[in-house]
Amino acid sequence: MTAPSDPRAGWGLPAPGALPGTAELEPLVTRVLAPNPSPMTLDGTNTYVVGAAGSGQAVLVDPGPDDAAHLAAVEAALAARDARCVAVLVTHHHGDHAEAALPWGARFGAPVAAASPAVAGPGGRVLEPGERLALAGTAIDVVATPGHTSDHLAFRLESGAVLVGDHVLGRGTSVVTHPEGDVVAYLESLRRVHDLGPSALYCGHGPELTQDPGAVLAFYLAHRAFREEQLLDALADGAGSVDELVAVVYAAVPREVWPAAAQSTRATLEKLAAEGRVALGTAGEVRPA
Ligand SMILES: [Zn+2]
Repeated sequence: MTAPSDPRAGWGLPAPGALPGTAELEPLVTRVLAPNPSPMTLDGTNTYVVGAAGSGQAVLVDPGPDDAAHLAAVEAALAARDARCVAVLVTHHHGDHAEAALPWGARFGAPVAAASPAVAGPGGRVLEPGERLALAGTAIDVVATPGHTSDHLAFRLESGAVLVGDHVLGRGTSVVTHPEGDVVAYLESLRRVHDLGPSALYCGHGPELTQDPGAVLAFYLAHRAFREEQLLDALADGAGSVDELVAVVYAAVPREVWPAAAQSTRATLEKLAAEGRVALGTAGEVRPA
């Protein structure tokens, strides 16, 4: 069993910390990086400013943390596009994506739209997968991508690019949270985005992936299958708890991300238990079925 190789390794993507603060990715999209880097958020949260050139309007996708410097950078990006914000879209409820949604929506007089009513707020709009939004002179398709969280959405642009939030990250792999996340749903969501044939993936964290997005999605699927095999091997070798499994399977990753690795491990064990491949005890013990 060998680890699947990451196609991005040879792409010359920006090194961690080297992502430009503001970048025009294509005529429809400017990316603004929030100043919240961490092991879980990589360079920080990517906020996307989306709108047709000349429309005078733009949509914010994932405003990110409610931070004064980040707001100033987003307002500068709006001004550079000669656009006012007409809506705030949010991929999922985690604070590093959603915190600024309601305060900035109020500031701009723009409704917030998300799958979660709590994120959309009292004056907002709850999005349904499959709907097409006509906003800022362009069309934005709402794509269901549950898995990382249950409310996760992606947004497909007219250009074919897909804003994927935390479903796919610019570097490394994403986390299926536990107990909210769902590995089976996550795998289905990866296939759903793959089947869209995206021209680019604009990620919630890390660099944009433009070279071969389908290869990244295929790698993510292969990586999940590899992790399942690693867990089953570690169980066969005597590991008997989530902590013991994480110590074996995630030995090569920094310990600061082990809590997230434990969530992904628990989520994967639930899938394997549902398939009858492992048995989960009431006291946290795990054994091969
Ligand atoms: Zn995030």
